Amino acid sequence: MQTFYWQLDDKKDNSAVIRQAAYFIRRGEVVAFPTETVYGLGADGLDAEAVKKIYAAKGRPADNPLILHIAACDEIKILAGELNANAKELAARFWPGPLTLVVPKSAAVPSIVSAGLSTVAVRCPSHPVARALIEAAGRPIAAPSANISGRPSPTTGKDVLEDMDGKIACVLDGGPCGIGLESTVVDTTGPLPCILRPGGITYEMLEEVLGAVEIDPALAGAESLRPKAPGMKYRHYAPQAPLYILEGEAGEKLPQMIAHALKANLRVGVLTDERGAAKVKKLFGANSALILKSFGENKKELAAGLFYFLRDFDRQGPDVILATGVDEKGLGLAIMNRMRKAAGQQSLVLRDGRLLLRNGAALPPWLSLE
Ligand code: AMP
Ligand code: MG
Repeated sequence: MQTFYWQLDDKKDNSAVIRQAAYFIRRGEVVAFPTETVYGLGADGLDAEAVKKIYAAKGRPADNPLILHIAACDEIKILAGELNANAKELAARFWPGPLTLVVPKSAAVPSIVSAGLSTVAVRCPSHPVARALIEAAGRPIAAPSANISGRPSPTTGKDVLEDMDGKIACVLDGGPCGIGLESTVVDTTGPLPCILRPGGITYEMLEEVLGAVEIDPALAGAESLRPKAPGMKYRHYAPQAPLYILEGEAGEKLPQMIAHALKANLRVGVLTDERGAAKVKKLFGANSALILKSFGENKKELAAGLFYFLRDFDRQGPDVILATGVDEKGLGLAIMNRMRKAAGQQSLVLRDGRLLLRNGAALPPWLSLE
């Protein structure tokens, strides 16, 4: 299949290409489009045959349900049964925006969208292109992230093309996504709203509105627990090279670890903040075995760049990647959730001066600093 690639220009009128993409959606085809979180892979959310094509293009497991995207908040009425007070309050406060609500599913939603569950996930995005596309299509758009399953989510049009060229009808390139991490998913169907996936709407923001919010205990990494969002059980966002996260004080060992890896003749990818990067540059200078990426000063910059950096490492091919973590306040909860998943839970912590893997597994010999 030929995949059309359309670059949008926010200073011009893009309505002709958006109408063309909407026409593809109405014809049952799949199109990629920008949202404020990451790029989405969209199809007619009420057409089971069209939705099947999303699963095929991504290689997504059939038990992982999709999010339905709407342009006007009250369109949720067609997709959901009765909404409770929490769901109404969250929609009123955070829509349009990066928040997905899990609500009871109505009969209008094909069961392939919800992977057979009695609930459905709904989001009203704020990105102007996403909104214009949904409006022009005249129906809810089912859309997961526009990556091959398991790879980091795409945050630029070119990243989408890398995974989807030849598999879908078109890519609408609306520039880099502002938030860079997928939406916060909140299950509103229980007595207390529960965060199934952390994202751009933070725990603190939800707590301020609702008073009390739960976090799915499976997110803390306990392997015995089954996450309530089926998608969260899969390894995800993973770059090709093994990735190690240096959490908390373990970050201080970054220079030593880089030195060890270089001594073992490994090409090392490094992702750290501005200060860490300046230190690494000073210590190692220009070294062709060192691929250094810096995310600047704050969590917002790290969130916006994280998936792009991980994909960029894949293009440059290091043998191993070392990344420093951040604290879990605010956006940090979502960032560390994605980083740990990308690392397959290979997080390094410092205990009594010793570097250990957080899950208790042994360090590979080249990483052992003793
Ligand atoms: P993605 O489409 O890649 O943004 O992932 C959507 C996330 O929402 C996945 O983790 C899904 O498992 C989760 N999700 C979608 N629908 C539901 C639902 N009805 N109940 C719980 N989690 C859901
Ligand atoms: Mg995804």
